[in-house]
Amino acid sequence: MKHLLIVNGLEAPLLRQFGCDCARCADSAPQANTSVSLISLNGRGETAHHILFDIGMAVTDNLFRSPYLAGTRARLDWLVLTHWHPDHVNDLNRLLVSYHLNRIRRQEEPTPVPLWCRSGTADWLQREHAYEWDTYLQPYCSGENQPPGTVLPPLPINLPGVTITPVTVSHYGADRCAQDKQSTCYSCAAYVVETAVAKTVLLWDIDNQNEWLVNPQTEAEETAVRQLSNADYLFIDATFWSVKNKPTTHPGFGNVQRYARVLTPSQTLLVHLSGHPDGRDNEGWGWTNGRWQTEAQKIWIAKNLPGQVTVPSIGDEFVVG
Ligand SMILES: [Zn+2]
Ligand SMILES: [Zn+2]
Repeated sequence: MKHLLIVNGLEAPLLRQFGCDCARCADSAPQANTSVSLISLNGRGETAHHILFDIGMAVTDNLFRSPYLAGTRARLDWLVLTHWHPDHVNDLNRLLVSYHLNRIRRQEEPTPVPLWCRSGTADWLQREHAYEWDTYLQPYCSGENQPPGTVLPPLPINLPGVTITPVTVSHYGADRCAQDKQSTCYSCAAYVVETAVAKTVLLWDIDNQNEWLVNPQTEAEETAVRQLSNADYLFIDATFWSVKNKPTTHPGFGNVQRYARVLTPSQTLLVHLSGHPDGRDNEGWGWTNGRWQTEAQKIWIAKNLPGQVTVPSIGDEFVVG
C-alpha cells in the first residue's frame, strides 16, 4: 500500500472579504488551506482508503477534481476534524449528502461515515450540524477534556502501517462548552500521522498561548512535544505575520518560528494564512501566498531556522508511506 498526503483548500484566498480590494482578494488562484487527504493506493494504483482531515469551505470541490478521488474512485473511509469552527466544517452537508446519494446510485450500502473528533467538538456539531450528525456520521469521540499538551490514544482507523495520534492544543476561540459558553471545554486537536517512513504533523488551529510547545512544564507536555518533534512535514497555523502582545486566536509568524526551532521539522508548511488590510498598515495584511513564502523564507535563512519553509498549494502531494 502506498500512502499520499494531498493538500486541499479554497477556490479563492482565505477568505475573500466582501468589499475588499487587497492583493489577496484580487488573486483568483486557488489557495491551500487547513485540509488534507490521506489517500492509500493498492498495488494496482487504485484508491483503497481515504481519510479526510477537516472539511472547510470548497474542500469538496478539491475532492471532485482529485485524480485519486474523482468519479468512481470516490471514497471516504474516515472524517477527522481538528475542531468545530465553520472554516473547518462548512462543507459537511455538501460532501456527506452527495456521497450518500452516490453510494445509493452505485447500489452500495450507504453506511454512515466514521468521524473522529474531540468530545467538545462533538457537542458543537450536534448543536450546529444536527442533521448531518444524526443521518450521515458514525461518531467516535474522544470522551475527554484533557488540557493542551496532552497526547490522546491513537485513532481507531485500522489502516495497516499508519498511526494517527491526536494531541490536544489550545485554540481558545473553540475551547468553549456548547451548552455553557462561559465554561472551558478543550475542543481542538493536532494530529501526528506516522508511517514506517514519514512523520507528518497537522498543527492547526492553535492560538498564541501554546507555550507548552516551547517550555513544557509537565511530563505530559514533554511527551506531547516529543510526539510533535522531528516531523518530515509540519503543517502549521500561521495566520498573522506580526505577533501581538495579547492573546490571539491564532499565532503570528514569530510564534511559528519559536515552535519550529523547538520541534525541528524538515519542512514547515504555512497554512491558514489570513491577511486582509486592517487599515493600520500592519505587515502581512493583504499579502498573497507568494509574498508570504518569499518573506518567510528570508527570515528562515537569516535566523538559521531548521529545514525549509514553504506555503503549500492545492493538490501538492507528499509520499508518506
Ligand atoms: Zn478555529
Ligand atoms: Zn480555522
